[in-house]
Amino acid sequence: MPTGARRLNFLSIGECMVELSGGGEGLFRMGFAGDTLNTAWYARARLGDNWDVAYFTAVGDDRYSRAMMEFLDGNGISTRLVQVIPGKRPGLYIIHQEAGDRHFTYWRDNSAARLLADDAEHLLNATSKADAIYFSGITLAILKSARREELLAVLEGARQKGALVAFDPNIRPALWPDVSAMRQVITEAASISSIVLPTFNDDAPFFGDRSPEQTVSRYLAAGAGEVVVKNGPNPVHVSTGHISVFLSVEEVDQVVDATGAGDAFNGAYLAARLRGEEPETAARAASRMAAKVIRHQGALISDT
Ligand code: ADP
Repeated sequence: MPTGARRLNFLSIGECMVELSGGGEGLFRMGFAGDTLNTAWYARARLGDNWDVAYFTAVGDDRYSRAMMEFLDGNGISTRLVQVIPGKRPGLYIIHQEAGDRHFTYWRDNSAARLLADDAEHLLNATSKADAIYFSGITLAILKSARREELLAVLEGARQKGALVAFDPNIRPALWPDVSAMRQVITEAASISSIVLPTFNDDAPFFGDRSPEQTVSRYLAAGAGEVVVKNGPNPVHVSTGHISVFLSVEEVDQVVDATGAGDAFNGAYLAARLRGEEPETAARAASRMAAKVIRHQGALISDT
């Protein structure tokens, strides 16, 4: 990085949880994960030293919150904006293997991260200094509706001032009070975003999209600047309104664990776009990254 050049800021907003996996003979392995953390992880891997990648969330003051912060800092993801709320705890989930499938059980209803947007001044300060901001439908689902509206207003302001605002709808109906509220908030979030990164199979049942083209049109019509529709092993559809292309994804013979594929795709895509790559080149790099991730166990891999 040239001396005197300003370091650029990538901010990912959401919830990181304690993950317990394994479980054979009552022995669990502890890790940390969450969709927005996973994307920050891959953005960190692909952005140069001229970028600071920070996570915006709230944690508690317990030993597991401290361990989570150490994990983030130890992996180059800055915790300088993380809020510590006395008496609160992080959310937790256990991964349970059954007949080759992974099942997730969550304890997150009362997690510290649900309060991440409570301090309006901190939120405004952090977002106004960011060059790129990433958030998801899960980030929105865990907030009380007044805080959610405030977050969206702040992000809209950041986009208007020139920040890149990126959003993955990450549809999780179980986190929402009802489907119509979910649809309405997701559409509003897309309308204030520069880039929307949906997954076709997640969106289609709830929005009635019959093809990825319909998913793209719906988000462009809502006000998104650029839409990238992921679709598992099927081609990725990238559209900015001016260009519209389908790109085949790298073939993977043996999927070991598909957890985090979409998050990894998003991190690599955004890093490439922020480095000045065209949408098509960025989508190719992103699908290569996702292909790598699904060949490994777990959402976070270091060999990127
Ligand atoms: P999510 O992880 O959000 O459910 P997808 O399943 O669409 O999203 O996966 C995201 C990306 O990961 C895809 O766009 C593709 O690049 C890659 N991917 C996922 N599954 C496969 C697969 N079976 N073969 C090759 N690439 C895949």
